[in-house]
Amino acid sequence: MQLQINDTFNKELPSDPNKTNTRRQVKNATHSYVSPKQPTKPKLIHASPEMAKELGIDPESFSSKEFLDVFSGSKIYPKTNPYAMAYAGHQFGNWAGQLGDGRAINLFEVKHNGNLWALQLKGAGETPYSRQGDGLAVLRSSVREYLCSEAMYHLGVPTTRALSLMLSGDDVLRDMLYDGNPEYEKGAIVCRTAPTFIRFGNFELFAARQDTKNLKRLTDYTIQHFYPELGAPSKETYIEFFKAVSERTLEMIIHWQRVGFVHGVMNTDNMSILGLTIDYGPYGWLEGFDFGWTPNTTDAQNKRYRYGNQPNVGLWNLLQLANALFPLVEEPEPFELILNNYKTNFETKTLQMMRSKLGLEIEAETDSTLMADLEDCLLLTETDMTIFFRLLANFEKGKPERGIKAVEKAFYKKEELTEDKSNQWLAWFSNYERRINIEASTDSERKLSMNTVNPKYVLRNYMAQLAIDKADDGDYSLIDELFNLLKNPYSEQPEHENWFAKRPEWARHKVGCSMLSCSS
Ligand code: AMP
Ligand code: MG
Repeated sequence: MQLQINDTFNKELPSDPNKTNTRRQVKNATHSYVSPKQPTKPKLIHASPEMAKELGIDPESFSSKEFLDVFSGSKIYPKTNPYAMAYAGHQFGNWAGQLGDGRAINLFEVKHNGNLWALQLKGAGETPYSRQGDGLAVLRSSVREYLCSEAMYHLGVPTTRALSLMLSGDDVLRDMLYDGNPEYEKGAIVCRTAPTFIRFGNFELFAARQDTKNLKRLTDYTIQHFYPELGAPSKETYIEFFKAVSERTLEMIIHWQRVGFVHGVMNTDNMSILGLTIDYGPYGWLEGFDFGWTPNTTDAQNKRYRYGNQPNVGLWNLLQLANALFPLVEEPEPFELILNNYKTNFETKTLQMMRSKLGLEIEAETDSTLMADLEDCLLLTETDMTIFFRLLANFEKGKPERGIKAVEKAFYKKEELTEDKSNQWLAWFSNYERRINIEASTDSERKLSMNTVNPKYVLRNYMAQLAIDKADDGDYSLIDELFNLLKNPYSEQPEHENWFAKRPEWARHKVGCSMLSCSS
């Protein structure tokens, strides 16, 4: 395995002079050097050939001792210096102070085909930022991150990715439901990748400490490497930088809304400065369409991070980033303008996204009413979001009365569709049919285009849980099956039709399927 090591973060930014692995407040530094914990008996469960190729790694080397050693944290790759990043954050709306990589250790950066990739082990042991935690990760949360981040990539959603999933061979004590019943679980390590793992919280940390010098260094570094098109640092460039981050963040969230992904813990320390989906924890996929749904049990009371609130939270988080960057600009107006634009762009981009889900190309004035009416209909009785939009592509012009039949499979309890509710649906299908009549496309053309934005297969919460349960027994076949299935989420894959199905009833209230806890 010949890696093109190209470290920039730890070479260009100030490191913590203290090299001991003790928990502490770290000042004047973006990172602390730390070595991964030696895993007792590492074992490769799965690796992503697609990701490997991006890094210049031959998938043949997955079975090598070197691959196992490097990506389990057993051996440090020559001439590299692993480190944990310092960052802060707002958690559930409150300032939480210094957080940092508590269970992630950056190995190195690789340059391949002109692209820079940072590689990071999640679950490789404690760091100066581990606070009360052990720096470890359990198999269940690692399977979820591994499968979902690659699935999101194939869905076309901006995301961090994953190279490998390993067992550490060590047991990890976890109180999964925070109810005083801790149990030992298998420890695991994911090697995840992204051009950079810098978050909003990295900027917030320096801003909170009035450390403008390092705030500027970090911002200049970020622009130079990841927003080079913005040019040399200046007040104008910082404003353009904030604008670009706002746009990317909005774009990412609109993608989430499109595919029905609920992040679950959109704290500012979980917001990538590149607008990538990051930190797959208590996330979930909408099954029944519901703006109020959140998978995160920690958030069950306030539902701050519910599906319908994700765009607002994105804006709130951007406001925190604006506050952090303010010392570099010292004028509030440019930030206010960009934040206001987020709101208007949100409206127009949501409408555009919904049009694409309905196979509409023309912009008609009545579209926002059509969408609002559809949302009302989807809430009449529990309706599976993924199945509904996928089957809507089968709707034919001139046959509004066949609308319900076309999407019937999406209803969890068809008997709940009373006459009134059916009539409301029928009225909507009639409007939709009038609307598609002004489009130039034929039924089959519309279907083709809808099927590129409405996935047939997503990582339903229960699917991940089935894969986890098997993996716990040492059977990794379902991880592999789902990994391959989700590489082509928009393809029919008739041989996998069994995964184009509503959540089974047993999974409705099962832990791991509908209830997820924050940190694991
Ligand atoms: P998260 O909820 O995953 O975004 O984590 C919030 C913060 O807690 C981050 O600083 C994490 O690194 C830290 N953290 C979460 N779980 C652990 C753990 N098991 N050990 C150490 N730190 C952790
Ligand atoms: Mg996090």
